[in-house]
Amino acid sequence: MQQNMLHDCSLKGCSKKRIGLSKYCSSHTRYKALYGHPLLRALRKDDLEPHIKRAQQFIDRNREHRKVKHAMSKVHYWLTKAKVSPSNIAGGKDAQWLAKNQGDPEKVLSSALAFWLFAFENKEDSLWYETVETLEKGIGTVVLTLVARPSSHDVGFHSYLKAKSRKEVGNYFHTELTSFFVAATIAIQQYEDEINLKIPFE
Ligand SMILES: [Zn+2]
Repeated sequence: MQQNMLHDCSLKGCSKKRIGLSKYCSSHTRYKALYGHPLLRALRKDDLEPHIKRAQQFIDRNREHRKVKHAMSKVHYWLTKAKVSPSNIAGGKDAQWLAKNQGDPEKVLSSALAFWLFAFENKEDSLWYETVETLEKGIGTVVLTLVARPSSHDVGFHSYLKAKSRKEVGNYFHTELTSFFVAATIAIQQYEDEINLKIPFE
């Protein structure tokens, strides 16, 4: 460990010393743990806001569609379980906190979909799409912070929110809802200009 700490952080342009056994300095190690990549930072609420509106509108117009119903039931199940026995559910205590504080399934689902839209549409330069880890931690962070902590400016700049919870929650949403996110994203992009139409999606 002593030896490792004599070296510079392995990120280009960062000349701070490494910490512990990490190949990065302390801040880059922290960002890697929180978001899955040393160069990722907390998401700004302003960046997500327009996508949240689109996601909400989409869900609202299609709430009778079986895919929306199915996605909603997955979120509902997760929140209900979290309330009752947090140790057996993705995100544990953090999920329980959410379930008890404005953890409305529709809000939760639209936030997760908003993150998906955001990451997907910034694909070319988005580090959130870099690996499964970054994608899942991003979803987890948004779900756990955006919904229940509306007064905070940045999403995910909460050190008390464990990296483990972010990862677990993101993994649950990624595993259970990817086909919904993909289909919804395609439908939104194709049809959202037609204001009065229901958005068809298969
Ligand atoms: Zn560094």
